Amino acid sequence: MTQALQTDIVILGGGIAGLWLLNRLRQEGYDVVLIEKSALGAGQTLASQGIIHGGLKYALSGVLSPASSAIAAMPELWRRCLRGQGDVDLRACKVLSPNYFMWSSGGYRSRLKTFLGSKALRGRIDALSPSAYPDFLRAQTLSGMLYQLTDFVVDTPSLVEVLAAPHRDRIFQIAPEQLHLRGNAEQGMTSLQLDTADGSLTLQAQRLVLGAGEGNGDLLAQLGMDNPQMQTRPLHMLAVRSRHPHPVYLHCIGDSFGMTPRLTITSHPGPDGCWDWYIGGEIAEAGTKRSAQEQIEEGKTQLQQMFPWVDFSGSQWASFFINRAEPKLANLQRPDTAYIHSVANTVVAWPTKLTLTPELGKSVVNLFKEQGLQPLPTEESSGVSDKLSKHFATPPIATPRWEDLLR
Ligand SMILES: Cc1cc2nc3c(=O)[nH]c(=O)nc-3n(C[C@H](O)[C@H](O)[C@H](O)COP(=O)(O)OP(=O)(O)OC[C@H]3O[C@@H](n4cnc5c(N)ncnc54)[C@H](O)[C@@H]3O)c2cc1C
Repeated sequence: MTQALQTDIVILGGGIAGLWLLNRLRQEGYDVVLIEKSALGAGQTLASQGIIHGGLKYALSGVLSPASSAIAAMPELWRRCLRGQGDVDLRACKVLSPNYFMWSSGGYRSRLKTFLGSKALRGRIDALSPSAYPDFLRAQTLSGMLYQLTDFVVDTPSLVEVLAAPHRDRIFQIAPEQLHLRGNAEQGMTSLQLDTADGSLTLQAQRLVLGAGEGNGDLLAQLGMDNPQMQTRPLHMLAVRSRHPHPVYLHCIGDSFGMTPRLTITSHPGPDGCWDWYIGGEIAEAGTKRSAQEQIEEGKTQLQQMFPWVDFSGSQWASFFINRAEPKLANLQRPDTAYIHSVANTVVAWPTKLTLTPELGKSVVNLFKEQGLQPLPTEESSGVSDKLSKHFATPPIATPRWEDLLR
C-alpha cells in the first residue's frame, strides 16, 4: 500500500549542515523532516577538529580577500549562539578551548608566514609573552613566536546533541536502499518514495535539501542532476591518547611554501583523565600517500621533534582516512565560502567548513524567502512526523572516529 504524506521541506543528511538547517527552517515556521542514513554526525562532522576558524589560512597568504573577511566574522557569530543570542541557541554546547594558538617554531619561512598572517589579520591575532602561554607551553622556552587567535574549539558531539535535541521527533533513520529519488536537471526532484516494512510512502515536499556531505554525489546522480559537481579531498588524520596532563590547541606553522600549518592539533577528553590529541594539517594532507603504520611513524617523529618535553612512551596511536566533500570548482580550487545551488525545488548544500554553517543557514533561509516559499496550511502537513515514526527510528549520535579507534 502506498500512502502520501506532505511536508514543506525534506533535508537529507544529519551532519552539521542538515541539523543546522533543520533548526533554522523550523524557526521560520516550516514543517521540516530530516532523513539520516546511519548516525547523526557520522560523516565529516564528528571527524572534524571542531575549530571555529577566524581566517588564519587565508591570511597566511598575506592578502585579505572578501572570503577571509567573511570567515573572520564567524567566531563572534558562533560566540553569540553560545551565549544564546544568535541564530541558533547553542548554550548547552561544550566549548573545549576558548582560544586557539599558533606557534611559528623558528625557521625563516615560517616566521615570514606568521608575520604576513598577523599583518593581514589586523589586530585579530596577539603575540603572547611567556607568562601568558597556555599550560601546555608555559614552562617551555620556545623558539619562534606564539600567537593567540580569535579561533576556538567546540566539542562536536555536544554540538550535534544540542542541534538534534529539540527536533528528535523530526529526524528519521532511513537507509539509502529504502529511499528512492527521481528527478531531472530542470525540475530537480520529481518524487521521493520510502520503502516501509509493509509497503511504501510517498513524501511530497515543497523543497528538498541535499545536505549529505559526500553522500550528495550519489543523491545528485539519482536525481539525474549533473550540476553542481562534487569534489573530495582526502585526508589521513592521526590520533594519540596521551597521559600528558595538559590539552593542546595549536597550529604549528612549518617551513614549506604551502598555506596549511604543518600540524593542527586539538585535544578531546579521553578516559581516566587522558587527552586524545587529534592531528590534522599538512601531515594529514601529505599523509594520504602513507600507510597507517607510516603515518603513525611520521606523527611520532614530528610530535617528538616539536614537543621534546612530552613523554609519548606507552601512548596509543591510530590513524584513519577521510574525505572532505565540497563543490567542484574550476582549476580544482578549494571553495572558501559556504555553498548552495538551487535547481527548481531542490537545493544542494555544502558548508565546506563547520565554521561556515551559519552562513549556509542564512543563505538557504534567504533563498526560500526570495522564492516566496510559504508553509503549507497545518491541516495538509499535520501528522507527518507521527506517521513516519511508525515506520522509522530516530538515529543515534555517532561516536567520533578517533574515539572508536583508540578504544
Ligand atoms: C578531518 C576533518 C577535519 C575538519 N576539521 C574542521 C574544523 O576544525 N573546522 C571546520 O570549520 N571544519 C572542519 N572540517 C570540515 C567540516 O567537518 C565539514 O565541512 C562539515 O562537517 C560538513 O558537514 P555536512 O553536514 O555537510 O557533511 P557531513 O558531516 O559529512 O554529514 C553528512 C551526513 O549525511 C549522511 N548521509 C550521507 N548520505 C546520505 C543519504 N543518502 N541519505 C541520508 N543521509 C545521508 C551521512 O551519514 C552524514 O551524517 C573538517 C573536515 C574533516 C574531514
